[in-house]
Amino acid sequence: MVKTKRGVWLYSIAVTVVVDASVAPLVMMLAPRAEWYTDVPPALALATLLSIVFSVFAWRQNLRGYQLTQELRALLERDKLTDVATRDFFFKRMAEAPDAYGLSLMVDIDHFKTVNDTYGHIAGDAVIRHVAQILQKNTRSKDIVCRFGGEEFIVFLFGVGMENGLDVAERIRRVVEAEVMRHDGLKFQVTVSIGGSLKDRTDEVNRAIRKADEALYRAKQLGRNRSIMSWVRTDGSVPDAA
Ligand code: GH3
Ligand code: MG
Ligand code: MG
Repeated sequence: MVKTKRGVWLYSIAVTVVVDASVAPLVMMLAPRAEWYTDVPPALALATLLSIVFSVFAWRQNLRGYQLTQELRALLERDKLTDVATRDFFFKRMAEAPDAYGLSLMVDIDHFKTVNDTYGHIAGDAVIRHVAQILQKNTRSKDIVCRFGGEEFIVFLFGVGMENGLDVAERIRRVVEAEVMRHDGLKFQVTVSIGGSLKDRTDEVNRAIRKADEALYRAKQLGRNRSIMSWVRTDGSVPDAA
């Protein structure tokens, strides 16, 4: 498949070389030897012209097909508003690596409805984009940041375990809390609540999400702008076997 305009020309030239290389011997076979000088050059010129015109047309169609596939993929895999992964892409990636282990963070913007109600949906959208950018910037390229729904994100950090799960979540939470976003002459500073859970190699991703969601619920109940890990008991202790 052709992926660039340059490719269209290279492929067309390649096809034309092959066409010319076939036309010349064919004419030499059909025409008497004495007429080669008069027959071969115009036959080659015509073959070159036709081949270039048709090849460029055909490879251009091919390039368009490739571009449309890319656009379709982007549409399915990247969230339009934030450019982070879509929910579909998140599940696709997780299904491709069912034995992946790591930390799932469910991140939800606090009192987001107030932003919408006070400043309107466009400002709300800008706040969602702002938080998405922070999540993307503060994770590694191999991690997945996904917009799970409205103002809720899932971040999956491959290989991160219980030792530093809470630190990772807290670092992200503090960055959101500290950053000021400017939009339409106004300043916005929001907070997020984070629920975390671990997914080990044999865990189902849905189970990890459910546990992260329950932890998020606890974080909201406890007053928001905090991170709660599913393995930390309500009294703050961590079970040995967890
Ligand atoms: P909490 O602290 O409990 O999370 O409160 P909240 O107000 O953030 O939560 P709630 O779930 O009540 O509100 C989420 C709002 O997000 C409701 C919905 O209108 C809004 N929302 C969902 N998707 C979008 C979007 O794409 N853009 C904007 N601007 N708002 C959205
Ligand atoms: Mg919210
Ligand atoms: Mg929500």
